[in-house]
Amino acid sequence: MARLSDDFISEIKYRNDLGELAASYMQLKRRGRNLVGLCPFHGEKTPSFNIYTENGSFYCFGCGTGGDVITFVMKIENLDYMEAVKFLAERAGMSMPEDDYDDSMSRLRTRIYEANREAARFFYGKLTSKEGAEGLRYLRGRGLADSTIRHFGLGFAPDERFALGNHLRSRGFTEAEMIAANLVFKSRSGNSVLDRFYNRVMFPIIDVRGNVIAFGGRIMTDQKPKYLNTSDTLVFNKSYNLFSLNNAKNSKSDALILCEGYMDVISLNQAGFTNAVATLGTALTADQTSLMKRYCKEVIICYDADEAGQKATSRAIDILRRAGLPVRVISIPDGKDPDEFIRRHGDQGHAAFQNILDNSGNDMDYRLRKLREAYDMNDPQGKFNYLTEAIKLLCELDNAMERDIYASKLSDETGVGKESITEQVKSGLRRKERNRRREETSRVQTGLSARDDKVNPQHKDHLRAATAEENLIAYLVKNPDKLTYIHERLKAEDFVTDFNRKLYIYFSERILNNLDPMTTVTADYSADEVSKIHSMINSRSDIPKTKEALDEFIGVILKEKAKPTESDIKNSSPEQFADLFSQFRKNHQ
Ligand SMILES: [Zn+2]
Repeated sequence: MARLSDDFISEIKYRNDLGELAASYMQLKRRGRNLVGLCPFHGEKTPSFNIYTENGSFYCFGCGTGGDVITFVMKIENLDYMEAVKFLAERAGMSMPEDDYDDSMSRLRTRIYEANREAARFFYGKLTSKEGAEGLRYLRGRGLADSTIRHFGLGFAPDERFALGNHLRSRGFTEAEMIAANLVFKSRSGNSVLDRFYNRVMFPIIDVRGNVIAFGGRIMTDQKPKYLNTSDTLVFNKSYNLFSLNNAKNSKSDALILCEGYMDVISLNQAGFTNAVATLGTALTADQTSLMKRYCKEVIICYDADEAGQKATSRAIDILRRAGLPVRVISIPDGKDPDEFIRRHGDQGHAAFQNILDNSGNDMDYRLRKLREAYDMNDPQGKFNYLTEAIKLLCELDNAMERDIYASKLSDETGVGKESITEQVKSGLRRKERNRRREETSRVQTGLSARDDKVNPQHKDHLRAATAEENLIAYLVKNPDKLTYIHERLKAEDFVTDFNRKLYIYFSERILNNLDPMTTVTADYSADEVSKIHSMINSRSDIPKTKEALDEFIGVILKEKAKPTESDIKNSSPEQFADLFSQFRKNHQ
């Protein structure tokens, strides 16, 4: 990777305050010197995301993500390092040192965007040509106006295997670039490259910054599978993006309508509901949920009325609730999907759908109704089972007033006294709280150790040493002037774990060269390593603050280093073992 100068990166960080930038994506509260909020990188209801204003870094105790302002932008805008730096440079009105910005990965990403854009143009051109007549007829047959087709940039992939490949080649794209964009693939013999999409109507997928990142292609019959999508590429991750979010983010509504398919979204847009989005051929993911959370205050689920659609609805409710997003569920009458419904109402499509929207219940109404349908309410046992399940659902509500309203409803519905329902709900809540605490503790414990394993696999075998090493490194980063003092007492070879040794050398070298230790950590380490390093420097309450404490940590490292390892013990003769043992005892006195 071409390297940006330390000065430039320092300037970028200085001019882009992390707290201020983060506040444009999420709600933050001040807590002492720090800022806290709900983590934008995992779903949670109690804030574990911390911004440390003194050193411009963040760390989430829930998911273990951490870093500096550049890491934050990489994660939240889904950019690579160079792109994030560029983003921040633009934000601060700085120009990039051009020569440094020709990192090959970034270049390939740019070429993929360009190839996709050219492909979208090609498909659109074909749709309006003779070759695309069948495609155009198909889309018009599904009720789409020409203006809608243009607005979404829909297109047609002709019924041949080399059309797009030849076109892109003539525009200067290399085979490698086209393959990286997943627009073509190598034939099994390896002698030719074939178009991925042929004889399909094409739906370009555009990200919130206006880049064409992928395509969905639909065959024009009802054979299954109907859709073929771009596989994941350098610029596209299907579980991270949503169809038409680029349109929805500009809508005036506070809600997003979550649909199953591209055609539903397009029909809704045509009827004036520009806040519709769809997943990209997969079930809703937690990543998509955090993405939606940035653009809305509420999600309205509008899936198909068939059994698969209803299953997907329950699943989506769970995921969205977990992320703390309020949910409403739309049920379309007569088992239609939204696209069919709007088409059937013709000019009245907008009013008809608005009517359904206005009458849509929240997810609790939906779930209770589904539950009621599952039990025989005339049978006492059926009624009892219904009530038991319904009370479980009520326990999932965070809002006490909401719980009270539904307790009254349930009481009316079943003839069971409201007090006894409320009593059941209360004991359910207590049980839930106990379980939550237990789960959270074990999640934090296993989460932390698993992460340690990934970045520093030796950590678990050398707990004492690794902890002392981490504390020492944190101390060094905060007190670079103590480098000489530490170096006189502790050599890099004395470190027990390799990862921490490398870090110690890295920071020492930077300090010796009069550079701030942390400035380029994000450039020089992987995402997991960056998180780990930030957890080291931010999350330890036992970082030595005095020289005495520092000496103690140096002492622990030296002692642990001298300790015989398991293999030393296994391979030693009886005399050697006695030696090791007495040495070990001496060290531990
Ligand atoms: Zn988190």
